[in-house]
Amino acid sequence: MKILRRLLKERELLNAGFTNKIIQNEMGKLLEIENLTKFYTSGYILTEKKVAVDNVSFSIKKSEVFCLVGESGSGKTTIGNIVLRLLKPTSGKILLDGRDIYSYDKKTYWRKVQAVFQDPYSSFNFFYTIDKPLHDAFHLLEKRSSREERKKVIKATFEKMGMNPDEIMGRYPHQLSGGQMQRILIARSFILHPELLVADEPTSMVDASTRVSVLNELLRLKEQEKLSVLFITHDLAQAYYIGDRIAIMQKGKIVESGLVEEVIFEPKHPYTKNLIKSVPPLHEKWKL
Ligand code: ADP
Ligand code: MG
Repeated sequence: MKILRRLLKERELLNAGFTNKIIQNEMGKLLEIENLTKFYTSGYILTEKKVAVDNVSFSIKKSEVFCLVGESGSGKTTIGNIVLRLLKPTSGKILLDGRDIYSYDKKTYWRKVQAVFQDPYSSFNFFYTIDKPLHDAFHLLEKRSSREERKKVIKATFEKMGMNPDEIMGRYPHQLSGGQMQRILIARSFILHPELLVADEPTSMVDASTRVSVLNELLRLKEQEKLSVLFITHDLAQAYYIGDRIAIMQKGKIVESGLVEEVIFEPKHPYTKNLIKSVPPLHEKWKL
């Protein structure tokens, strides 16, 4: 209970200004995942099957942050990559706006569904300034734009995020901090005004003080731009801070799910209870 009280206090402090946490049930579903299963196979003759995701179903509403929480190896990234169409499911169905995700052409789909990955540096080429991937983001749009037009949009996006474009544009990745890089990636994903953002451990490479600003940025996008987020983390404290609903994963299965408050304050599954016991405070230095 001590941990829960501390969590609650932290959230009150940090979450000030974000009052719109309560889910509006009447809101429509954006993403629906039904009976998703993924096997990885290895070997040629005696093939071995590894069940990474085992019959998982959940849905994400419009303007909702849905968190997948579980220890390493529980299948979270596999689900994220399947939703991003980077990986094909073995079986199951995924709908976006009521349509099978494979019925969209790739460009259209990736305009609607964008990603922010764990390691922001991996998304940038060290030989180029960070302007290049920002301009490249526009390739997914139908309409061609001039460099000047693109620059305007990029600048406006940074300004909206409370970042000074002059301190960012024209820089090389090594000149920027992990936290700045991660926020640039969020800005990049948002250039396209996606409907869904898949954020896979987006704060794991940033320091504790920046972590909160990354989470706050996602909350702002959710509320002001009606963005939906599939937030993947092994850290229950972050899920509690940012999430509307939460699903706890263990060995490829969802063992418990519901409103964040319900799952965290009235956990039913022993695995969830254990996770709650081992929650690190949000401000504590990251334990890797
Ligand atoms: P998480 O993101 O929760 O750590 P992953 O989705 O990365 O989990 O992995 C789920 C399981 O699938 C793990 O046991 C992992 O070892 C396995 N796995 C992940 N990617 C591959 C792959 N490309 N080939 C074989 N097994 C994989
Ligand atoms: Mg992962």
